[in-house]
Amino acid sequence: MASDYISAELRKLVIQRASGCCEYCRIHQNFSIYTHEVDHIIAVKHGGETTADNLALSCLSCNRYKGSDFATIDQITKEIVPLFNPRRQVWNEHFYLERARIEGKTQIGQGTARLLQLNIPNRVLERQVLMSQGLYP
Ligand SMILES: [Zn+2]
Repeated sequence: MASDYISAELRKLVIQRASGCCEYCRIHQNFSIYTHEVDHIIAVKHGGETTADNLALSCLSCNRYKGSDFATIDQITKEIVPLFNPRRQVWNEHFYLERARIEGKTQIGQGTARLLQLNIPNRVLERQVLMSQGLYP
């Protein structure tokens, strides 16, 4: 099994590439209570590698809800849908902001928003507060 150890150098690259923002919900590190984490987009246990191409910056909430998942089930069609991959896909093509809510434009966006619980009340409220101060997105 590949190592999940992330060197300081790689960590720095991931943070800089994401400009300090969670690549799923886009909250900036400076406005998050907990330190953002480096997420394996495809978990090591599924064969994902610890390379820049498989890493994303994630806030603690997104990373906890995502866990080692890389897909979910569409609630309407019951199809297996991959989660949003920040390295392969563009955020704006899969999500949009409806006030402080992050809605999915596509099955991938919808499934990811649901699994990562992007719109649970405390997270929407947090975004509202930041938006009112011009600090989000
Ligand atoms: Zn997040």
